[in-house]
Amino acid sequence: MKTLTCDILVVGGGPGGSMAAKFCAQGGLDTLMIEKKAEIGAPLRCAEGVSKKWLDEVGIKPDPAWIRANMKGAIIKSPDGTSFQLDESKAGAEVGYVLERHLFDKALARDAVEAGARVMLRTSAIDVIRENGKIVGVKAVEMGDPIEIRCKCIVGADGYESQIGRWAGIDTNLKLNDIDSCLQYRMVNAEIAPDYCEFVIGDSVAPGGYLWIFPKGNGTANVGIGIIGTKAKNGAAKKYLDRFIANDKRFAHSQPLEVMGGFVSTCPGLDCAVADNIILVGDAARVIDPITGGGICHACRTGMYAGKVLTECAKTGDFSKKALMPYEKMWRDRMEDKLYRNWYAKERLATLDDDTINKLVELISTADIKEVNVYNLLKVVKEKFPKVVEGFEDLI
Ligand SMILES: Cc1cc2nc3c(=O)[nH]c(=O)nc-3n(C[C@H](O)[C@H](O)[C@H](O)COP(=O)(O)OP(=O)(O)OC[C@H]3O[C@@H](n4cnc5c(N)ncnc54)[C@H](O)[C@@H]3O)c2cc1C
Repeated sequence: MKTLTCDILVVGGGPGGSMAAKFCAQGGLDTLMIEKKAEIGAPLRCAEGVSKKWLDEVGIKPDPAWIRANMKGAIIKSPDGTSFQLDESKAGAEVGYVLERHLFDKALARDAVEAGARVMLRTSAIDVIRENGKIVGVKAVEMGDPIEIRCKCIVGADGYESQIGRWAGIDTNLKLNDIDSCLQYRMVNAEIAPDYCEFVIGDSVAPGGYLWIFPKGNGTANVGIGIIGTKAKNGAAKKYLDRFIANDKRFAHSQPLEVMGGFVSTCPGLDCAVADNIILVGDAARVIDPITGGGICHACRTGMYAGKVLTECAKTGDFSKKALMPYEKMWRDRMEDKLYRNWYAKERLATLDDDTINKLVELISTADIKEVNVYNLLKVVKEKFPKVVEGFEDLI
């Protein structure tokens, strides 16, 4: 059997994997990234919306090659049609770009290659290899052929379905109420505002989640829905989404040219994302924002942190759980409070009926908020509807 060796094996070529591979390679580590699909970034499983602020933090320069549309703001709607519009001056970090995600992912993978990482496509990890109880690599299948890849440490960047963590004994299980079931159509010929992302919330519209319209120019938009796992039985996501589209005049002459489904975790991250010789990043570490379902920025951040910590570990050759703990500290210091706050908010949102949501949106639309983000919105809600934020006031 073919055996390959490297310092760091990155499993998964999404944003988390590519960022980890880039920073490992930049740190002088012999880095191999494997991706089970035939193409980085395809097929698409994303609504492609990102805010702008974090790109600088992880060293990614905005590039027209992967920016499909530049948003001026966002519109938030409640079930009775009450809405408020956030413009860039107020929406701050929450407004951003609609990406060409397959090009974005490829750009990140190209950066990793430029830094010196190797990439293998159609190569799927199928198990970890243990010797004397220690993880020393993975068994994989490369274009149908079994291979072994031996390494000093594995970065599990294998997304929502992550197996690396489970194989390594990390508890990655999710409760049904911490999963959103998503469905999205790429609609064409729609009469939508070209530069505003739209979010519709409400129990009768998207229970425990929201419905989105993210414009991609030329009357094209990603129109999708995410609903809480406990209410996602019997094709519920499709029923809610189809009903919304059928009742919205803007889609009267519109048709879907693509459909895709997927899941996002909406928990506040794993209890621990490292084990001996294993480090999990991005969706594999469950670091998606529980309220927005946005995970691209978190995947990039955790990938970068992993690469930096692994570079340090390589200096002593120690990739034990203890040596990897600075990674835990880094992502928790940067993200944990916000993940918890938004997880509580998501839990509470899922219990609110349409009437309350109509009132909340009405309240927010008339409130004087300097910069609109989840934190500031919750502050307004806390003042007027303290019951809604009962139990997590101290995080606001
Ligand atoms: C419907 C939907 C809409 C979304 N919309 C948005 C959005 O608008 N904005 C946003 O920020 N986030 C969004 N997300 C979340 C976002 O897509 C993820 O958070 C992000 O892709 C995480 O990056 P990642 O690198 O951790 O994982 P992924 O991008 O999922 O990459 C994991 C990679 O690992 C590969 N892989 C898996 N198992 C193996 C294996 N055994 N061997 C080799 N390779 C393997 C997969 O093929 C995949 O390419 C959405 C998610 C869904 C499902």
